Amino acid sequence: MEIYLDNSSTTKPYKEVVKKMIYALEVDYANPSSLHKKGVQVEKNIKNIRQNIARTIGAKDKEIFFVSGATEANNWILKKIVNKRKNHIITSSIEHPSVLQTLKDIEKEGIEVTYLKVDKNGIINLEELKNCIKENTALISIMHVNNEVGSIQPILEIGKHLKTLKEKVYFHVDGVQSYTKINFRPSKYNIDFLSVSAHKIHGPKGIGFLYIKENSNIKPFFSGGSQEFGLRSGTENVPGIYGMDEAVRISNENLEQRIKKISDLKELLKKEIIKNIENIKINTPENSVCHILNISFYGIKGEVLLHYLEQKNVYVSTGSACSSKKKGSHVLNEMNLSSDEIEGAIRFSLSDSNTEEEIIEAVKILKESIKDLRFIIKRKR
Ligand code: PLP
Repeated sequence: MEIYLDNSSTTKPYKEVVKKMIYALEVDYANPSSLHKKGVQVEKNIKNIRQNIARTIGAKDKEIFFVSGATEANNWILKKIVNKRKNHIITSSIEHPSVLQTLKDIEKEGIEVTYLKVDKNGIINLEELKNCIKENTALISIMHVNNEVGSIQPILEIGKHLKTLKEKVYFHVDGVQSYTKINFRPSKYNIDFLSVSAHKIHGPKGIGFLYIKENSNIKPFFSGGSQEFGLRSGTENVPGIYGMDEAVRISNENLEQRIKKISDLKELLKKEIIKNIENIKINTPENSVCHILNISFYGIKGEVLLHYLEQKNVYVSTGSACSSKKKGSHVLNEMNLSSDEIEGAIRFSLSDSNTEEEIIEAVKILKESIKDLRFIIKRKR
């Protein structure tokens, strides 16, 4: 049995997604900008898809922009909202590298960035954020859910506070790990920009959407043939958009039930690990997203455990997939974990495709693997 518990890195596309993408490649292959009827048909379908996606977050069609994924969406907002007068951005120290690295790049060009610290639960301090807002603050960019530990940031409270300010401060939320995992609407949260990647919700890779609130003064990201309302030029990724449509549709069906199912699986996983394995530390806070569980196994190197488990067909992650090739998780570092705890950390991330049977089997394999590894380490000493 293959047990895939790395759904925060990416998910397996739903069968319907694959089918729809094949249809786009085989039948609806025309350019949506073409004037003939084949092109017009694709254009019409894309219009409907934009509407479908907009509905899931209570947005208007024209507020949804197709992008290559959240990395592009995050780059777009961070690079194109600032100007000479408004050149300060506030973020957290545990953002995804697509935010942190972009900010490092634009800092070199004179943009000022404030990095908010997080507490031991991986959560920013709201008062600190409020105190950091200055006359030249253009944007606050805070992820909704952290991809490594699953902590949830107080975005409702941030949005509420920003609404009370005399001068507009834009609010960008990286919603990659929260879209379809938390039932929320950007408009109610006073969010101006929301980034989402389709491959995290059983859709294809290389496609996502960016919500841009109407009348936001954002500059275009790509210049060219004026696609995406003139703000993001380039021929549309039609198979990707069709595939994302299916993923969005399915993962929003019975949303509350889906969230409950994933949440129950996570509770089972946590309970079974606590019951069966000693010397661990749960790094995911109590009040966290439904699908992420990060645990440190003392005395064990997470990377060694990951490869041990992979031989038994269990797939997990150390930190996030993007940063896992670098040394030590910046998120766990910021949460003040010891080097042993950081080294021994494993992230389990679930989806509604997982089953209870898989969880029980995974913990059985995990228990045996940890026993083996701890025994080998003891003998070496
Ligand atoms: N933001 C978060 C929180 C993520 O987890 C990821 C991917 O892991 C991204 C952004 C980047 O998404 P993509 O690689 O699809 O552009």
